[in-house]
Amino acid sequence: MLCLSNRFTPYGKAHMKLPEFFSFNQNNLQDYEDCEFRFLLKHVRQLNWPAVESEPLLLQEKKIEIGYLFHQLVQRFFSGMSPILLTDTIEDPILQEWWGYFLDLNLLEQPGVKFAEKMISVPFNGYRLVAKYDLLILLDNGHIEIYDWKTSISQPHRHFLIDRMQSHVYPALLMLQQSCSSFIARPSPGDISMTYWFPSHPQSPVSFTYSPDQYEKDLQILGNKIKEIVAKEENEFEKTNDVRKCKYCHYRSLCERGIKAGIINEDSNSADGDNPFEFDFNAL
Ligand code: SF4
Repeated sequence: MLCLSNRFTPYGKAHMKLPEFFSFNQNNLQDYEDCEFRFLLKHVRQLNWPAVESEPLLLQEKKIEIGYLFHQLVQRFFSGMSPILLTDTIEDPILQEWWGYFLDLNLLEQPGVKFAEKMISVPFNGYRLVAKYDLLILLDNGHIEIYDWKTSISQPHRHFLIDRMQSHVYPALLMLQQSCSSFIARPSPGDISMTYWFPSHPQSPVSFTYSPDQYEKDLQILGNKIKEIVAKEENEFEKTNDVRKCKYCHYRSLCERGIKAGIINEDSNSADGDNPFEFDFNAL
C-alpha cells in the first residue's frame, strides 16, 4: 500500500515540486478547479490508481474509443485524406452517424485557412501555457474561429462550458502567442470566437465571442490560478467538498470516497456537465 505521507518532511509539510517540463493546460487547470487533491495526485505525484471511472466499464471504453476515432478521422480529413476513403474505414454505427454530421458542416468549403490539431505554447508567469486546438480557421479579415469537438454522451449547459478552464485558456492563448510564436494569426480579442461542437448534438453548438474585458479577466484568472498552485505545500491541496466530483474519479478508493464507481448508461444525461465521458483527446 502506498504511503501517502512518504514525501512529507518531519514537520508534516512537503514543498510541491512540479515535474520537469511541466506545462499548464486546460486539462490540469480544470483538475485543480475540480479538486486540488486530484491535481496533486495526477499531475504532481503522477500517481496511477486502478479504479475505473464509471460503470459499466465496457460502455465507458466504447465511448472513449469512439471519441478517439472521431478525433482521428477529423485529423486525417484535414490532413487531406479523401472523405470517401475515410468513410469506408468506419464500422461503428454511432461513429458513422457522427461522421456524417461532421461532413455536413462542410468545413473545407468554408472560407479561411484551416489549422487542425494546432499546438500553441507560450511562456506565462514563469511557466508554459499550452493548448492543442482541434481546429482554427483564420479568415481574411483577421477573425479567428476556434472549434473544439466534444464527444461526450450528453451536452452540458452553456454556462457550464463557458466556465470551463478551456474557455479561458484557448482564446487567451491565441492573444498571448502573438509576441512569441510564428503562428500567423494576430487577432484582437473581438476577432476571436470559439465553438464547442457535439457530434451527438450537431444542431446545438455552443459558441461565444471573445472581448477585451474577458481577455483581461482571463489573464487574471489564469495568472492567479497558477500562482496559487505553485505557492502551495503538498499538504495544502484539499480534497473537494463536492463529492459528485469523486463519482467518476480514478482516486475514489484512495480518498475513501467510495469504491464503487458512478453508474452510467446509454441514457445518462448530465446537463451540468458532470460527465464521465469527457475525455481529453488532445492529450493523446
Ligand atoms: S476522489 Fe474526490 S477527493 Fe479524491 S482526488 Fe478524486 S475528486 Fe478529489
